[in-house]
Amino acid sequence: MSEKNQKVTHTESEWRERLTPEEYRICRQKGTERAFTGEYYSNQQSGVYLCRCCGETLFNAEHKYDSGSGWPSFWQPSSNDMLQEHHDQSHGMVRIEITCSRCDAHLGHVFPDGPQPTGLRYCVNSASLAFVGDDS
Ligand SMILES: [Zn+2]
Repeated sequence: MSEKNQKVTHTESEWRERLTPEEYRICRQKGTERAFTGEYYSNQQSGVYLCRCCGETLFNAEHKYDSGSGWPSFWQPSSNDMLQEHHDQSHGMVRIEITCSRCDAHLGHVFPDGPQPTGLRYCVNSASLAFVGDDS
């Protein structure tokens, strides 16, 4: 296994120190930010979106689109290896949760109502992401 793919692990108290309370609630406790309140839902700059917890590249801005949901939405991840999918039956819904494969951060959910060519909508909390623009 390459170094890049090694797991990033921290204790719960270490994560609490590294993240803001809101980031901790979303990334480590599978919370959801309120729609239209996140930092990136309307961001249209080109660049990449990293995992807020471990810095792994998760999404490219070129795959982002405006889904109208109020959360950053992508029709594909930057690489399928970077995400793990889990069946989630919480809140009386059957959904597919996505987490960072490197540090297990909760990211959001994937829904089958996205645009072509994938038909998927990766609906991600801004608090789970860190955007790096091409000009920065
Ligand atoms: Zn991560």
